[in-house]
Amino acid sequence: MDLFEYQARDMFEKHGVPVLGGIVATTPEEARAAAERLGGGTVVVKAQVKTGGRGKAGGVKLAHSPQEAADRAGEILGMDIKGHTVHRVMVAAGARIAEEYYFSVLLDRAERRYLAMCSVEGGMEIEQLAVERPEALAKVPVDPQVGIDRAKAEEIVAAAGFAADVAPQVADVIERLWTVYREEDATLVEVNPLVRTEDGRIVALDGKVTLDANADFRHADHAELEDAAATDPLEAKAKEHDLNYVKLDGSVGIIGNGAGLVMSTLDVVAYAGERHGGVRPANFLDIGGGASAEVMAAGLDVILGDPQVDAVFVNVFGGITACDAVANGIVAALGMLGDAATKPLVVRLDGNNVEEGRRILREAAHPLVTLADTMDGGADKAAELAHAAHAARTPQA
Ligand code: GDP
Ligand code: MN
Repeated sequence: MDLFEYQARDMFEKHGVPVLGGIVATTPEEARAAAERLGGGTVVVKAQVKTGGRGKAGGVKLAHSPQEAADRAGEILGMDIKGHTVHRVMVAAGARIAEEYYFSVLLDRAERRYLAMCSVEGGMEIEQLAVERPEALAKVPVDPQVGIDRAKAEEIVAAAGFAADVAPQVADVIERLWTVYREEDATLVEVNPLVRTEDGRIVALDGKVTLDANADFRHADHAELEDAAATDPLEAKAKEHDLNYVKLDGSVGIIGNGAGLVMSTLDVVAYAGERHGGVRPANFLDIGGGASAEVMAAGLDVILGDPQVDAVFVNVFGGITACDAVANGIVAALGMLGDAATKPLVVRLDGNNVEEGRRILREAAHPLVTLADTMDGGADKAAELAHAAHAARTPQA
């Protein structure tokens, strides 16, 4: 799980990594209050989205008063940065930057160890630096049995070419960042930029942390980070039901079992959509092997709750859970949802006990359900229905 910058900042602070004050805000008013609490001076208003390059996209702005902080927050909240809507900002104390550096430590699966990367040329996107000036990015392997001790921190700092007057201080901060990595069970800790301020302090000004979910059992407090991280209400609801759901921006809702089948369903629907006004898939949703009535109802509930969805394509291959059980699940799910089910459903079943599954759906004769014989046929029908629903809402010019 990736953390938001403000969560990474708090985690850094907990482990003694030098950071500046930062307060999260979801409205311009909260941003104003945050700027006041930080002393009323210069602050930086930063979009909290889990993607890099916020600065370039206009998601990081300086503000010289609480009023300006509120204004900048008003501009940044709701902004779209690389497909991520900004639901909150962090108001951070402003730094006077003398130099910008880069540091990260990550899990190097191929080499079965960790890898530390460090540069005295931080700030810019590190992928770009790695391509354009690879010699400026030091890469130092870290033995998992030893970690980053003082000697390793000094080796990293020397490899990156830090000036002698800052090297010991940077090594200190790197040791502390390693503490974050080890004690929180991270697979990535990245700071870009790590800065030297005009008054000579080394401060982590941005933070990216990825936590290893396999170690969640050791960290009761990580669950809270995850809850706060699920900003999309549909994704939060899906998570409650342990559904593997990713919201996309089309209008054909998709439910399938097995990640491979769902992925190919997305492709087939996108392809069919080209014949029907360019409609596209609205989501990825894998209900997994045991497609019980409860899981089907939860899945349908999530998808029908998406206002962008105009039609749903249920594409299930019966395996251990046979098609008749899936069909019963769909009928029961529609029963449970009652009036909440309002959008047409195209269902394609195949595999184990398919005939019985189809018979159950035919007999139930639910007015919203259309049966499809093939995956291509089902995708085409769902795309056609989504397009028709859209056209019915849009008055002809
Ligand atoms: P990113 O673009 O998503 O990586 O966001 P960052 O948090 O790294 O910020 C981008 C850039 O904004 C940094 O490289 C800095 O140059 C600048 N910046 C961020 N915080 C401050 C600050 O407190 N003061 C000043 N002067 N610049 C800042
Ligand atoms: Mn950054």
